Amino acid sequence: MNHYYNFYVISSMKKFSNYINGAWIHRSDSSFFQNINPADSLDIIGEFPESNSSDIDDAVKAAQQAYKQWRLMPAPKRGNIIRKAGDIFERRKEELARIMTREMGKPVFETKGDIQEAIDTCYYAATEGRRLFGYTVPSEMDNKMNLSFRMPIGVCGIITAWNFPIAVPSWKIIPALVAGNTIVFKPSEDSPESAIIFAEILEEAGLPAGVFNVVFGKGDTGSALVEHPDVKLIGFTGSTATGKRIAMRCGELNKKCSLEMGGKNPQIVLDDADLDLALNGVLWGAFGTTGQRCTATSRLILHENIHDEFVQKLQAKAEKLRVGSGLDDTTEMGPVINTKQFAKIKEYIEIGKNEGATLLCGGVEPSDETLKNGNFLLPTIFTNVTPQMRIFNEEIFGPVLSVSKVSSFEQAIEYANHCAYGLSSSIFTKNVHVAFVAMRELEAGITYINAPTIGAEAHMPFGGIKGTGNGHREGGWTVFDIFTEWKTVYVDYSGQLQRAQIDNQE
Ligand code: NAD
Repeated sequence: MNHYYNFYVISSMKKFSNYINGAWIHRSDSSFFQNINPADSLDIIGEFPESNSSDIDDAVKAAQQAYKQWRLMPAPKRGNIIRKAGDIFERRKEELARIMTREMGKPVFETKGDIQEAIDTCYYAATEGRRLFGYTVPSEMDNKMNLSFRMPIGVCGIITAWNFPIAVPSWKIIPALVAGNTIVFKPSEDSPESAIIFAEILEEAGLPAGVFNVVFGKGDTGSALVEHPDVKLIGFTGSTATGKRIAMRCGELNKKCSLEMGGKNPQIVLDDADLDLALNGVLWGAFGTTGQRCTATSRLILHENIHDEFVQKLQAKAEKLRVGSGLDDTTEMGPVINTKQFAKIKEYIEIGKNEGATLLCGGVEPSDETLKNGNFLLPTIFTNVTPQMRIFNEEIFGPVLSVSKVSSFEQAIEYANHCAYGLSSSIFTKNVHVAFVAMRELEAGITYINAPTIGAEAHMPFGGIKGTGNGHREGGWTVFDIFTEWKTVYVDYSGQLQRAQIDNQE
């Protein structure tokens, strides 16, 4: 193995390296995969190693070694390093946003928001290093004290999707580090360069070598990370199909595993709602990030009294959205991530037509010749969608919105809950009673009142129920339940043997 800068150039192609034990590691026998700009297939950003189990083993060994010291550093000091990382994310925001947009497509104003979420996470988690509260509880015995506090877990394997290349990894990596764990990170093969910058920033902030490691690759590399016996926890964000497979293996291997998976999120609009607000909400929720958010609004449930008027206005606005490269300042909606996902979305558009839904607009590529090398689709809206249809139930993960008509609030809730996923949900109404019933009845980890299904804040619990999650919540204070174990301590200062449940019976 040799130590290199984070990339080197062969025949004008940038080849990037894994980051292990504080060094950029190139293996001469690596295979590589290409990172391609989704807005322009002729723009090849570089090649990244398709790492094998031996690379994973090197990274895990480094993380295990570093854990010995890192776990002993006082949490407020770990927090200080993370706060500095927040400052550096802020300083490099503009440059990093353009790197992210080039590799995953969403407009720069959105990638800046993505980085802002990591900055917020750093500042929040840094101060959590001074809290990480435990409980001191009365004992049932004389002269005895009961304590409980959080302990780190060890080497954590982090596997993530590409749609939030910085924010989503930060939700896991940053609190995991503050809690005293060390990390091996396998970023998505569709947004690997963002992970290079993540490593640079943590290194500059003063993270000791080996505490954070990055190993590039696809599913097989992720799988090798799951299988490694010294990886104690897997933190995963991605599709429900992959997440379930990982959870089954973690069950067999007795590893802790937190899953953030797919969504099929409904926005309800009742007939008393502020319709302009609801309209702007659904445009942002459905077509922001080209509909490629786990929390994207993919189902719009409209009360019949406002259905026709709302749909007409929505179509007019959706058709005006400016589609193009995210690097162009005027773009409102970027490309779809890759050709495989592009083909899948087009297949769903055919499924929708065949199921009898009405294609209101979109469903095709833009006619603009300058966009012909990218994975561009026009904002697509289906109406007359019923709960029996696949496009109502299955996650499409693209700019495709399904609209259904209902005759009452009760039916709206029934439609919203008619789904295997349970991440986000939203309702637009001015009726306080109805809003509170919706908060209680909507089957989702997150509910927005008079706001779209997207817009999570870093200091609040984030996650879903049903097919979306496995009971954990990232964000805020709840993420520490994932990345710590509770230690319980009994201190008996009575000087005699006291037998719990025996000596203190009445
Ligand atoms: P994906 O499941 O294809 O891949 C996710 C990650 O898992 C990638 O890094 C991939 O290389 C890795 N992977 C694939 N197979 C693996 C295996 N067998 N073992 C270990 N790792 C493996 O998902 P994607 O297409 O990258 O992302 C889109 C999905 O992510 C959507 O379903 C979306 O809803 C979901 N997502 C969820 C959240 C959330 O917080 N709930 C956030 C963002 C994205």
